[in-house]
Amino acid sequence: MTDEADDQAGPVARQRKIIHVDMDAFYASVEQRDNPDLRGKPVAVGGSRERGVVAAASYEARKFGVRSAMPSVTAKRQCPDLIFVKPRFEVYKAVSQQIRDIFAEHTPIIEPLSLDEAYLDVTENLQAIALARDVALAIRARIKEVTGLNASAGISYNKFLAKLASDHRKPNGQYVISPEMGPAFVEALPVGKFHGIGPATSAKMNSLGLHTGLDMRNQTLDFMQAKFGKAGAYYYWISRGIDDREVRANRIRKSVGAENTFAGDLTDFDAMAAELLPLVDKVWRHCEDKGSRGRTVTLKVKFNDFEIITRSRSVPVAVSSRSELERLSVALLQNEMPLSRPVRLLGVSLSSLHEGEQDESQLGLPI
Ligand SMILES: [Mg+2]
Repeated sequence: MTDEADDQAGPVARQRKIIHVDMDAFYASVEQRDNPDLRGKPVAVGGSRERGVVAAASYEARKFGVRSAMPSVTAKRQCPDLIFVKPRFEVYKAVSQQIRDIFAEHTPIIEPLSLDEAYLDVTENLQAIALARDVALAIRARIKEVTGLNASAGISYNKFLAKLASDHRKPNGQYVISPEMGPAFVEALPVGKFHGIGPATSAKMNSLGLHTGLDMRNQTLDFMQAKFGKAGAYYYWISRGIDDREVRANRIRKSVGAENTFAGDLTDFDAMAAELLPLVDKVWRHCEDKGSRGRTVTLKVKFNDFEIITRSRSVPVAVSSRSELERLSVALLQNEMPLSRPVRLLGVSLSSLHEGEQDESQLGLPI
């Protein structure tokens, strides 16, 4: 471990204090808050029983194995008493704004990841609270007071570990990963649990004998880059608990997208996957023309009853080729199979970096 610390010497900036706040079972908790009949019961927010998927599940439902993104029929089979509730996004957005206002009492450096999750940089916080764990306690108490809802928090010296930490004491808990603990924490982590490593990369890593953070850490930077390209460097540093990405306030999500409505509705995976290709071409051409890059691929599916679903996946470094964009897009579609209804429209978009902006996760890495 002492050697590791030496490796980290060099252009290391001031130690950051980062909190990742994540609301517990957010949509489902809001529904239980607003309807006492739902409290203590297995609740799924999402489509009807016959079609659609679970958008969020209460902890009571999770005990039965109900998970978000699970087809509603499967969820109902796992948990016969499951109560389905229609989502009320306007309410969730309003609560989300209340939460952000609470964050803003402590720091202006807030990077929302979704309605119920954000990174905060509290290195220099507005209330001059010395310990980040105390800032997290104050924020969670205030969220409870204002919204009646529970939040969990992860506290660490970088974004990667803070996000990992917020899962550690869920629900309604918080966890600190100190600089001393960071490398050991990552060491034991299965590669599939690394944020940003999806099933395909995870399988590739396993086939190379890389099963945990420790396995990754035992590789050279050259090896990791040879096997995983640009992302290899990110994995190399992450496996050492090093992640210098900044918390980016007011990040404007810009996206490049293309979509197509079909002459006849599609039901077959191969036919739909084929229809994705011209969309991928169009998006990628636009990115190349404008110098845009992005890490988040979103698939949009409109069914024949006009219901729309979107599914996204973010990768650790900007998508670097047309074939990578295609692979990610097709994988998102594959994950949704079998679809419950015929599809009339598909869309693909790439988002999260500004035009001409460089990939921050590469820029900030210590050499
Ligand atoms: Mg959450």
